[in-house]
Amino acid sequence: MLNRNVETFLECDKSYGDAEIVLFGAPFDSTTSYRPGTRFGCSAIRRESFGIESYSPYQDRDLIDYPVMDSGDIELSLGDTSVCLNQIEERTREIIEAEKLPFMLGGEHLVTLGAFRAVSQKYPDVHIIHFDAHADLRDDYLGVKLSHACVLRRCQEIIGDNKIFQFGIRSGDREEFRWGKDHVNTRKFDFEGLDEIIEKLGDSPVYFTLDLDVLDPSVFPGTGTPEPGGVTFEELRKAVTKVCGKLNIVGCDVNELSPHYDQSGVSTMVACKIVREMILALDRM
Ligand code: MN
Ligand code: MN
Repeated sequence: MLNRNVETFLECDKSYGDAEIVLFGAPFDSTTSYRPGTRFGCSAIRRESFGIESYSPYQDRDLIDYPVMDSGDIELSLGDTSVCLNQIEERTREIIEAEKLPFMLGGEHLVTLGAFRAVSQKYPDVHIIHFDAHADLRDDYLGVKLSHACVLRRCQEIIGDNKIFQFGIRSGDREEFRWGKDHVNTRKFDFEGLDEIIEKLGDSPVYFTLDLDVLDPSVFPGTGTPEPGGVTFEELRKAVTKVCGKLNIVGCDVNELSPHYDQSGVSTMVACKIVREMILALDRM
């Protein structure tokens, strides 16, 4: 007997009822400021994930053993940013209400706002850990408030001051950095201080948003706004393992892979491996 073709992220094919973590894709890139294409990121991650093993020698864990379901990409109403964000919020809320952990694959970084709205309603005291090359703290970008360049500013408006912890930041305009000093905690260039922040946050609910352009473009060229001077793969792997393994993560996302700029396919494999390490570190059974 032949089986129908069902494509999921590597081994994330468990049933919804059993699942502790639910993956979904948000193929949205309408506000990308430079080079579009991230709408193809989530499907590329899913498709190419079969190029890596489900077993992690770093953590001695295997995705086969974990109750994770990949629920596919949301069918977004591209062309209307507000509607798309509502659709992302709805999918996230449904997963949270079922007591499962939402894990979103972008898409551009604005998708975080949709997921975070649902998470922050359920957990009003939630904090954010944000890895990125860019501060994403603009009040508007060329007059547009719903832009990937403004996404953490929109999140700050929801949760207030000193709840956002940024790492790896090496790009932004002067006003973003000035504003950021009074409202968020920004670690420039690397992950120094992450251990102290993890200790300080303790059991508090945390939303983790990973913009993959935090990586150096030599490691991760497949992105719309590459920013030289980023972290190495090993630095990122260790940092995401700590964040997902030690904190009370109530939602997370990985965004900004743009596969058309990824001539060698290496960026997509980097994304797949980071997603695998994150799921395994979350360790939900
Ligand atoms: Mn970003
Ligand atoms: Mn970025």
